[in-house]
Amino acid sequence: MDLLDTLTAKGLRRELPTREEALAVLATTDDELLDVVAAAGRVRRQWFGRRVKLNYLVNLKSGLCPEDCSYCSQRLGSKAEILKYTWLKPDQAAEAAAAGVAGGAKRVCMVASGRGPTDRDIDRVTDTIAAIKDQDPAVEICVCLGLLSDNQAERLAAAGADAYNHNLNTSESTYGTITKTHTYADRVDTVNKAHGAGLSACSGLIAGMGESAEDLVDVVFSLRELNPDSVPVNFLIPFEGTPLAKEWNLTPQHCLRILAMVRFVCPDVEVRIAGGREVHLRSMQPLGLHIANSIFLGDYLTSEGQAGQADLDMIADAGFEVEGTGQTTLPRHRSEAVGGGCGSHGESAGGCGSHGEAEASGGCGGHSGGGCGPCGESAPLAQAAPADEAAADLVRVRRRGAGTTLAPNA
Ligand code: SF4
Repeated sequence: MDLLDTLTAKGLRRELPTREEALAVLATTDDELLDVVAAAGRVRRQWFGRRVKLNYLVNLKSGLCPEDCSYCSQRLGSKAEILKYTWLKPDQAAEAAAAGVAGGAKRVCMVASGRGPTDRDIDRVTDTIAAIKDQDPAVEICVCLGLLSDNQAERLAAAGADAYNHNLNTSESTYGTITKTHTYADRVDTVNKAHGAGLSACSGLIAGMGESAEDLVDVVFSLRELNPDSVPVNFLIPFEGTPLAKEWNLTPQHCLRILAMVRFVCPDVEVRIAGGREVHLRSMQPLGLHIANSIFLGDYLTSEGQAGQADLDMIADAGFEVEGTGQTTLPRHRSEAVGGGCGSHGESAGGCGSHGEAEASGGCGGHSGGGCGPCGESAPLAQAAPADEAAADLVRVRRRGAGTTLAPNA
């Protein structure tokens, strides 16, 4: 297929595809799916080998958010029966983080609900970073606290944070339909603040909110321009009790196309399969590893993932290996880039959180509609998912780990 040969060649050269080529990936048929995965897999192996980076989420503060992100179970007015708690103490957060690291995670992603941190919140997080680094100085720490004010990114960097996550979530043109309480420009500003402070930037998207194929391509091209070190790709978890509860728009096949499009547009960036992996990719998760080089281990912010051991077994069974702390995530040209972020030491990105990644369900994300092919007509983004009710049963509210007395899943 000429399209895939072209995209593979461009990915190997780190050359930006055209918008038409990116749209054409989303319009490929199920007959072409394995060819798409194989082509994206060649690009993935060029830059990341067969390594899979594991990241572990710690929800520092859950629920009760004053913002109105429609995909989020922690939003203002959410009726989702999630865990709600205020800031974990540093030792509690460090205990949760240690479980993830013991399970194989290289990066801990600390997330707190809310519009953005106060300076007092930055103090708390500073203490928490110290508690985690005291336990294990090699752990990478990504922080996701929402919109940053001046000098907060610098304070987090000085405290030892390696990365900051803040997702764009969806295209600029549809952003206003998913959130009214802040703007797309606010999000871009925070990613730039993280970059400016020398933190590795992590910024991604949420698919499945009803957006068009053009919207998906728009947000991924915008991410390429922002140049984060990692791009978490969330698939909306339609939580009961949120405005998007009925948005079951994704099939496993389409999730793979979206991941492949992201890989072709951002070939040398850490692409992470984030929230919604189990719910939407289901038994196709291992194919996703051929495209993405990073996942979350265990549970998400407000929902439960598959058992941590099942994540590890899947990686081994599919012929991949868990990336160790001594290995550099990003390719050399990127890890050594000034201010770019990452390397063995501080590398890359790591997605997290509410205002970041994760569960479209728990995190912070965006939304919208309708799809198309290379030409831009107007096919639906994905066939209606055939098994909505069965898939809905896969959404399990998190009842263990941080904020509970039960052991975390890692
Ligand atoms: S995504 Fe973040 S800012 Fe938006 S409602 Fe959820 S916790 Fe609040």
